Amino acid sequence: MAASDDSRPSVAQAYPCPDCGSVYTVHQPGCEFDGTDRSSIERAYIDIIAPLSVTTITKQSLQAKEVPEWTDLHERVFAYLTGTQQVIVEADGTVRLATEDESVAPDEEPLITIYRQGTYPGCHDNGIFALVAYFSNMGLSWQETKSQMLDWFNRTGTWDRGGFEEDSPEEVIEQKRHVWAEGYGWQRMGNQAKSEIKRRS
Ligand SMILES: [Zn+2]
Repeated sequence: MAASDDSRPSVAQAYPCPDCGSVYTVHQPGCEFDGTDRSSIERAYIDIIAPLSVTTITKQSLQAKEVPEWTDLHERVFAYLTGTQQVIVEADGTVRLATEDESVAPDEEPLITIYRQGTYPGCHDNGIFALVAYFSNMGLSWQETKSQMLDWFNRTGTWDRGGFEEDSPEEVIEQKRHVWAEGYGWQRMGNQAKSEIKRRS
C-alpha cells in the first residue's frame, strides 16, 4: 500500500508531519505520529484542504460533513494549517484557505527547513535571524513578527531543545528586534542554520 508513495514525485510543498515536521517517511524521535505513513499524513491535509478550496464552512461542518472520519491526525494538521496561517479561521467561525498574500509560510529554502523544523543548539541564532529578517521582508509589523516567532518556538519545539541564555522565547525574540528594523537579508544566516538542522535532524 505504501509502495506507490515512493514513486510519487516530490513536490515543493511537501506536507510536514504536524508533530515533528518531518516530510520524510521517518519521523523524529518521540513523534506522536511515529509509524504513521506519508500517505496518511498527506491524506489528512487533502481531506481538509480539498473542501476548503471550493467552499467556506465552519470547522464543525467540515468535520461533520466533509471529514466524518476526523482523527487526532486531522486535528493536528488543522492546528498546523491555522497556526501557519495557511488556513484562516474568521471571527464568525467560518474557515477558509488563506490567499497568497495572507500566508506567511515561506516557499523557498533554506527558510522552509527552518520554518518547519525549528532550530537546534548551535544554529538558533542564525535560524532566528533569518526568520525575523524574512518576516520583516514580508512586511509584517513587529507585533506580527513576534507572534509568528512565538508560534514557531512552540510549534517546532525549538525552545524545548534548549541552548538559550535567555529565560523565555519572548526575550530571545526581543533581542532580534534590530534585525526586523534593519530588514537584513536572510540568505546567508539561513543557509548556515539549515546545514546545522540537516546535520542534527
Ligand atoms: Zn512525525
